[in-house]
Amino acid sequence: MAGPHLPISGSAPEQGVSTHCPYCSLQCAMTLTPREHGAGPVLEVAGAPFPTNRGGLCEKGQSSAELLAHPDRLTTPLVRDGSGARDEPFRAASWDEALQRIADALTVAQERFGPDAAGLFGGGGMTNEKAYQAGKFVRVALRSASIDYNGRFCMSSAAAAATKAFGVDRGMPFPLSDIARADTVLLVGSNPADVMPPAMRWFAAGRERGARHLVVDPRYTATAAAADVHLQPVPGTDLALANGLLHLAVKHRLVDTAYIAERTTGWPAVKRAVRQYWPDRVERITGVPVRVMERAVRVLAESRATIILSGRGAEQHAKGSDTALAWINLALALGLPGRPFSGWATMTGQGNGQGGREHGQKADQLPGYRMLADPAAREHVAGVWGVDPDELPQPGVSAYEMLDRLGTDGGVRALVVMASNVAVSAPNAAHVRERLRALDFLAVSDIFLSETAELADVVLPTTQWAEEDGTMTNVEGRVLRRRRAVDAPEGARSDLAVLADLAGRLGRGEYFDDDPRTVFDELRRASAGGKADYAGITWERIEAERGVFWPCPSEDHEGTPRLFRDGFPTPDGRARFHVVHHRDAAETPDDEFPYRLTTGRSRAHYQSGTQTRRTKALLDAEPEPTVEVHPDLAARLGVADGGDLLLRTRRGSARLRVRLTSTIRPDTVFAPFHWAGEQTINDLTNPALDPASRMPEFKVCAVELTAVPTTTREDA
Ligand code: SF4
Repeated sequence: MAGPHLPISGSAPEQGVSTHCPYCSLQCAMTLTPREHGAGPVLEVAGAPFPTNRGGLCEKGQSSAELLAHPDRLTTPLVRDGSGARDEPFRAASWDEALQRIADALTVAQERFGPDAAGLFGGGGMTNEKAYQAGKFVRVALRSASIDYNGRFCMSSAAAAATKAFGVDRGMPFPLSDIARADTVLLVGSNPADVMPPAMRWFAAGRERGARHLVVDPRYTATAAAADVHLQPVPGTDLALANGLLHLAVKHRLVDTAYIAERTTGWPAVKRAVRQYWPDRVERITGVPVRVMERAVRVLAESRATIILSGRGAEQHAKGSDTALAWINLALALGLPGRPFSGWATMTGQGNGQGGREHGQKADQLPGYRMLADPAAREHVAGVWGVDPDELPQPGVSAYEMLDRLGTDGGVRALVVMASNVAVSAPNAAHVRERLRALDFLAVSDIFLSETAELADVVLPTTQWAEEDGTMTNVEGRVLRRRRAVDAPEGARSDLAVLADLAGRLGRGEYFDDDPRTVFDELRRASAGGKADYAGITWERIEAERGVFWPCPSEDHEGTPRLFRDGFPTPDGRARFHVVHHRDAAETPDDEFPYRLTTGRSRAHYQSGTQTRRTKALLDAEPEPTVEVHPDLAARLGVADGGDLLLRTRRGSARLRVRLTSTIRPDTVFAPFHWAGEQTINDLTNPALDPASRMPEFKVCAVELTAVPTTTREDA
């Protein structure tokens, strides 16, 4: 599949270069090939044969080369003069001045307010090497506890649940292609038809074999439209639905008692707990009719191989980790994890959402999925780093908690943000922007002047995907090679080099390197013996074997495409059931805010939109966000298709164009979160946090809806 012909920014090799897409966790393989075309050289993007995408690319991947030569690309460091208000314009600066300003500001903050006053906020799109370097930089160069990343807003609930139940968090414990071999796939809050279109070939292949698909989603999505059964719960009630289905599975004697006895612990308490979830009660909580639940359970009963696939719709809640545990309970009761073409899995969103959380970017973790609070883990990693374990800080606070306290007593005062646009993507985003402005100092490293970068004292122009070498870990836990295909524009530098340089200016340069391969080899040693063990994975093996699945503890180990076949990595080798109960969302509709707002991704755009809002093909496909409204609700509100709606919650408001659709519940509206300005939907979302994962409740809050006079795009 050939992509568009696009100008390239620097020199490019004459042969095509194999690499992977810069966007989501499917990490589709692609070939970038220079061609002569009219006005000059162009870079052709083509999907490449690979076990996940089999040559397919969605429109984001196809248009990705446009990012490389984009006229908005940052190519020189920017600084502001003066102090405090940050209302001066940026001026171009040398790298030396910009980096010294950052090093000085981090030092001053730590001298005045203590080590944790300097921090770093990372991104789930960073390579494994960068994520590892970021975690090490904060612990070794800054000796600060203040680090977390935007992956906390993506996978943390599923990660917490999987760790509790299975003893390890790898989003998919089996290859994506297993979906085609399952008799039944139950998708919960996941819409791959829109957000990962090339993955749908595995679902389609399953259906051709006669597989049946069930979808749980408040919206009748493109994925739901292709399914056999659609269960449409009220947002925030998936936990009750899972417990209700388990109640029915017990009632109809569908549970696998032999599997439960041999491979699990904790079943009796869960069996007792789900007695409370009789069908009528669950229908009242979820809105899903009893007959639909019964039908879903009948499909599960007739299936010999079932995969339950979770997504952000179920997980981005203040009870997201318990919700994921409820679906895991169902999977365990049906005897799925570890069986062929069966199990529970979750689909990571961001490009390196999986690898980004394995190597130390999370506030409580060290490389290899070791825990920072574990003395043995500290000793091992400190040994690899050549520092005293007692020098390492203890765990810090989670992403939203860090952002919420910026500029306050006890909070971070000087912050470096890498590859993240929290001014748009964090919950309660208007408040987060206020906190960013309250910082003594903010530095942002990015390829474009994002909404977060606009608030900074210093902006660093960074290299991006096709301009650098490194590794990524995809949705399946398969470690991939990202290869350099073109030169970076003059003036841009890799975040690896930035962190190594800053460490030198902070007097800790001897511990850091800026060569990605050297950093990866150190990562391998640091992860050795950990749950996410990369010790046996080399760049050569990745090239030769089309990716290697972790854990891979030695170079003669074949890697681990399928987990749990012989046991679970828990102390007794058994998976654990957990009793979990439904509770209301942190915010429910009332007289002032009578409807529910749910948020998510759209097909043409990605995350905070920093890249996709600058890509012509994607803007042409979706030039502005719309709010999905059911016709019955629209009639009550007095708004027509294409009219404007003001959405207001306790935190903020946004104004969006209406798209009428009967695919959404009449008590709920849906809006995408990729946009900024008065369309920043995260200005409305609720930062209520899950107690275990610290995941904010992006997926549901109470909203007031008011029809307002329609503006043209030019007026807006
Ligand atoms: Fe890129 Fe994801 Fe689209 Fe594949 S599905 S082309 S990885 S955005």
